[in-house]
Amino acid sequence: MATHAPMIPRTALKYMTRFRCIGPDCEASCCVGWGITLDQPHYQRLRRALVAGKDARADFDAKIQRIHGPAHSPSRHALMVLQDDGKCPMLSPDWLCSLQTRFGEGLLPDTCAMYPRWVTRIRGHLELTGVTSCPEVTRQLLLADDAIDVVEADPAIFARPLIVHREVPDVAAPYPHLHEAVRDVVLLLLSVRDLSHADRLFLVAYFGHRTAPFFHQESSEPLDVRFAAEADRMADPALQRELAVRRAQLPTGHDVAVSLAMHLLAHRASPVQNDAFNQLIGDAIQALAGDGDALAGGPVEPAKLLAAYEISKRRWESAFGPRLDQYFSNLAKNYWIREPYTLSTNLLVHTHTLLVRHAVIRFLLFGHPLLAGPVDAADAATLLDRAIVEVVHRFSRRFEHDQRFMTTLSERLADRGMQTLAHAACLLAF
Ligand code: SF4
Repeated sequence: MATHAPMIPRTALKYMTRFRCIGPDCEASCCVGWGITLDQPHYQRLRRALVAGKDARADFDAKIQRIHGPAHSPSRHALMVLQDDGKCPMLSPDWLCSLQTRFGEGLLPDTCAMYPRWVTRIRGHLELTGVTSCPEVTRQLLLADDAIDVVEADPAIFARPLIVHREVPDVAAPYPHLHEAVRDVVLLLLSVRDLSHADRLFLVAYFGHRTAPFFHQESSEPLDVRFAAEADRMADPALQRELAVRRAQLPTGHDVAVSLAMHLLAHRASPVQNDAFNQLIGDAIQALAGDGDALAGGPVEPAKLLAAYEISKRRWESAFGPRLDQYFSNLAKNYWIREPYTLSTNLLVHTHTLLVRHAVIRFLLFGHPLLAGPVDAADAATLLDRAIVEVVHRFSRRFEHDQRFMTTLSERLADRGMQTLAHAACLLAF
């Protein structure tokens, strides 16, 4: 009698059960500008399928080139050669993948078959989330209030279930050992009723601050008891309310805001790539500063920029507070589920990384040209949705390919001693 391997339990965040690639309708197709590598088996299967004569062989070799020398490995066996306009050579004029159209998913390279899925193995279980460099994933993640619900998932939506992007180690080391417990506490704090999203994030920062002395990458003793005591303490509604009051009384921290503004201004002035992300920064500075100097790429006073940013932020927050809370709450939960805290020294540092990203996203959102000037009330919510989706997917696309912008900003804040609980409150107020 045949025996079957036991089915691996699978879950997904709800937004990934709704995700469908929108192909030709996509505003930022992943088939443009991305060099895709092929592993050896997929290269050979494609070659067998596509090469049926001398001309076809030359065409194939021009479109998919072998990798030689030290850059070669079995998983990096060949490379799709992008056309002069940056498009994948397999993209047809109607913006559909010609490989998928002719042969189905089976012949696609792993990267193409999996993107924008992100599969994590957490001990014996697989979990599907998505990467926000895909605008359709971003829409599904940000625009539905139940997007972050964890649901049982059909294996079919995992595309190739054997690919695991990141693995939560099944080890006894004290810091990673509490992975599920950390996630439970943080998601609980991010869902506390009757508090704003900023207050909830402050609870998470405070939890990181309290646990940092004993719960960190260098911890060598079992931490379960101390961690559980801190987690229980955080569950107290009276403490939660008291912390929200305390946050409101903390200074809003002009120095953090100026550091952020200086970094964005310096980035605009630097001669790095003229990509969509830089364009977004330039547009936001121009829309906020709104004068001839900014239009000409000239100097802009950080104080003037911050004052204009503050006005735009207040305007949109007073009209769309709950909608904005939903965007940033879903982003925050997705971050804690998808990006292991074990990459950060401790939970406060991990929270800071998120807060710095959100501060940049807020600047680009409230400076977005779509939100500048008078807006028809009937269109305002739609414009806000369009602006946040564009900001988040462009930010993520840049971030996934080049982390320097965010790394140097985080280093700038860390060098100035700005990774404390008080500075977390300043970032939340930005
Ligand atoms: S970026 Fe997302 S929606 Fe756009 S073509 Fe790629 S997978 Fe499809």
